[in-house]
Amino acid sequence: MLKRTLAYWLLAIILLVGSAPAGPLAKPGFPNRPKLVVVLVIDQFRYDYLMRFRPFFGKGGFNLLLDGGAVFTDCRYDYATTITGPGHATLLTGAYSNLHGIIENEWYDPLQHRQVYCVEDPSTRIVANRQGSSATPGFSPRNLIGSTLGDELRAATDFRSKVISISLKDRAAILMGGHSPNAAYWYDSGAGHFVTSTYYEPALPAWVEEFNQPSPAQPYCGEKWQALPETPGAPGKVFSHFEPSAGEPCPDPKFLGWLNNTPYMNQIELAFASQAVRSERLGQGPETDLLAVSLSENDYLGHGFGPYSPEVADTTLRTDRYLASFFADLDKLVGLENVWITLSADHGVAPSPAFIREHQLGLGNAQVAAIRGAAEKALVAEFGAGPWVEDGGDLYLYLNRETLKKRNVPESKAEEVAAQAAISQPDVAAAFTRTQFLNGNLPNSPLARMASNSFNPKRSGDVFLVLMPYAVPVSGMTGTSHGTPWNYDAQVPMVLWGSAFKPGFYATACQPIDMTATLAAALGLTQPSGTQGTPLVPALK
Ligand SMILES: [Zn+2]
Repeated sequence: MLKRTLAYWLLAIILLVGSAPAGPLAKPGFPNRPKLVVVLVIDQFRYDYLMRFRPFFGKGGFNLLLDGGAVFTDCRYDYATTITGPGHATLLTGAYSNLHGIIENEWYDPLQHRQVYCVEDPSTRIVANRQGSSATPGFSPRNLIGSTLGDELRAATDFRSKVISISLKDRAAILMGGHSPNAAYWYDSGAGHFVTSTYYEPALPAWVEEFNQPSPAQPYCGEKWQALPETPGAPGKVFSHFEPSAGEPCPDPKFLGWLNNTPYMNQIELAFASQAVRSERLGQGPETDLLAVSLSENDYLGHGFGPYSPEVADTTLRTDRYLASFFADLDKLVGLENVWITLSADHGVAPSPAFIREHQLGLGNAQVAAIRGAAEKALVAEFGAGPWVEDGGDLYLYLNRETLKKRNVPESKAEEVAAQAAISQPDVAAAFTRTQFLNGNLPNSPLARMASNSFNPKRSGDVFLVLMPYAVPVSGMTGTSHGTPWNYDAQVPMVLWGSAFKPGFYATACQPIDMTATLAAALGLTQPSGTQGTPLVPALK
């Protein structure tokens, strides 16, 4: 008995002073980090695309992830503003707009009486070559509140980890990269090459300039966009063809305009990402590196044609082929056994109004101007001549501060009248007021919870609008959009692939904010400052 007690105390002392002999206890919880983490985001990529088009996927693209990854079949944003800027910020901060502050791509600033772009930064300049900055105002993550996964990885490794972020869209690259990446690159669609801003680098590195010369668009001169033979709905169909006028050089601005509306842009973007891995030696350094890539073309074409179009089917199949080639590059350069890959999207998309009407799902088009008009009319009727509504779109109404003061109307009263008028419109499902958010006086409903996760008191408007399901804020019948809490906008893929994750399909609850929470936990990092997600424990080995 005495011997056992003595042994117990000895062991306890050894454990307490941390001088346990080598073995499993030597480095408890020491992170088993890969050489490279690739966070792949596909803009406007609905979860159902992975299922609907799976029979047409080839080897090594989406199937690599679906066969060998942890696939979450029901991953949904729990906020109401499913848009590109907020979505990318949400994925990499693990928080919603209420905390990271990116409430829209562009929001109204009542103090400056103008729209603010989510990544605008007049103190920076665009960098488009090795000579240095241009005169064009640049972009930065200045408006992003709090840290991202990349920021935490950099801090945890004394900034030896490299973090690089790439997209066609400036806002996607910048918001994924966070505040302290090594670089963020996006595509200047007018000029046809990749750029950055002085926030990141004073001049482009040689490899980026080389990639840009003469133009990554040049190999596509003379191409047409023709559906693959296996594209469902329109096999082999020629969707578009660019006819240059005689004597015109290629690529010229007209050709670039055409190319911007083809899936070839994803191929260019992934070739750029491969070149970044090669030239920056990502996955070859002393610490884990992070590469974030957001494929934007799926969003451009999705807006144009809708989720049930052959154009989107063909774009998805081509994205699959391009990804197979990108993953093969990663294998050659880093070895896939040393890489973790995650796949998600910033948002989904609604069917086109034409599809909605044909199948009697709802109104089709939302009349956004009429909502604002109804609010203005009701405020005039209640309190006298305006103008009362200073700005407004499909998400927010901003009241005119001067009119409120002049008419001596309390903000909360005017908000209420505007919200009631908005709800009376057939395309509005709910409207919540700033006062309700600030006082925590919201109804106990899923819509109110999601709106609350979108509402940032410093930047959000006075009345928050939720459109009816299948009321899409576009004027045409064939184009479409997103930005609501409804599941066609909110549900996205979530796949975690690599040595840390247990393959399989998981129907358990998942939010996109869980991606960063899971990666931070698996990498042994401090969670980014605002992360509200929960590590997806069932998928962790
Ligand atoms: Zn979009």
